[in-house]
Amino acid sequence: MNLESIQAPERKLQAVQTLERKLLLQTYERNPYLFVSGEGVYLRDENGVDYLDLLSGIGVSALGYNHPAITAAIETQSRKLLHTSNLFYHEGTADLAMRLTERSGLDRVFFCNSGTEAWEAALKLARAHAELLRSEGKNIGTRFLALEHSFHGRTIGSVATTHKYKYREPFAPVMPGVEFVRFNDIADLREKFSSDICAICIEPIQGEGGIHPVSKEFFAAARELCDSTGALLLADEIQCGFGRTGKWFGYQHFGILPDITTVAKPLAGGIPMGAMLATDEAARAFTPGMHGTTFGGGPLACAVAIAVIDTMQKTALLDHITETGTYFRNELERLASKHDAIREVRGLGLMIGVEIESDEAARHIANRMMEHRIILNRTSDTVLRFLPPYILTREHVDIAIKALDEILTDMTSLAGQKPVGGHTHG
Ligand SMILES: *Cc1c(COP(=O)(O)O)cnc(C)c1O
Repeated sequence: MNLESIQAPERKLQAVQTLERKLLLQTYERNPYLFVSGEGVYLRDENGVDYLDLLSGIGVSALGYNHPAITAAIETQSRKLLHTSNLFYHEGTADLAMRLTERSGLDRVFFCNSGTEAWEAALKLARAHAELLRSEGKNIGTRFLALEHSFHGRTIGSVATTHKYKYREPFAPVMPGVEFVRFNDIADLREKFSSDICAICIEPIQGEGGIHPVSKEFFAAARELCDSTGALLLADEIQCGFGRTGKWFGYQHFGILPDITTVAKPLAGGIPMGAMLATDEAARAFTPGMHGTTFGGGPLACAVAIAVIDTMQKTALLDHITETGTYFRNELERLASKHDAIREVRGLGLMIGVEIESDEAARHIANRMMEHRIILNRTSDTVLRFLPPYILTREHVDIAIKALDEILTDMTSLAGQKPVGGHTHG
């Protein structure tokens, strides 16, 4: 079979599906849609049909699709230089590091290619830092505390700090020395913390876990415990960071500065890139040769990330995210007061979760939204997750709310005859 020779677009998807089933490791349950291009906040399938994208490739395509700043950066940089290796200097790394340190309050950057690599670097730096402290006579161990319902990536260290059984246990033994703390449970945190702990791992707003912000008190308690022993506070901002919540970093909503943070998903607007940021104190534990990557911080990714940051700055996108996010959440709250199926609306900026009464109902809504040509995603079974491009406007929100309202109304009227999601409403 030759995909190029297939003319009828409706047969292309089928052909790709057949081939993938045979040729790819079966790691994904893909939705049966084939996208070929995009423009703004819309994706276009092989039949020329447009979909309003409220997920942006799981929080990646922050400036939407075919953004002129990104295509220009890619074109210009691709003509100059794609790769140098980390054996040499190029123009992009310092320029980008300046922008990231200025905005984060942290001192130094390590560049890599994905979220899990950034998190892996954070775990290694925490271990190396504790080792350095021990060599200086301090009493500090090698263990980590992570949170229940956390998600930190798929490499073997990252899965060790990831709570979900299915992501971690099939690969046992993973990195040893991780204990999970009940989410936002300060007593549990205090009980499990000791001088044995080299770092506490926190997503300021849990993403895969269902869009749950940590409490200010819990975050502050973690900061205070770390300060008491020299342990490091690690903030995973791969999903909630880099503008998503209306601030450059999620921890800035809490008035807390971690020792290390990680960013990735939206950092280079769709080009793979990750970064770990650290204080000078933490960073001194890495010396040349201890850690590295072939591709990390390459000229192309740096050029695009710089273009993304400068565009966000020039267009005051953080204010826009706050404004559009507030409007979106208010509209969702309005739906929640009208439809019992919505249990809760959570989130900050354009990171929004809507808790639905049941697994089945949430799946039904996500599927029906696809029929309305609106893309969102379901996480933690019962949560509809919205991670739209930052350039989303109120008009797009209105389209989504109208569709949701219709779907929820249909469900309510159906519920009289045949319960959807196993619930009837009294
Ligand atoms: C997506 C994500 C990761 C992993 O990033 P990858 O690029 O998929 O490796 C880690 N932490 C959080 C919070 C994430 O959302």
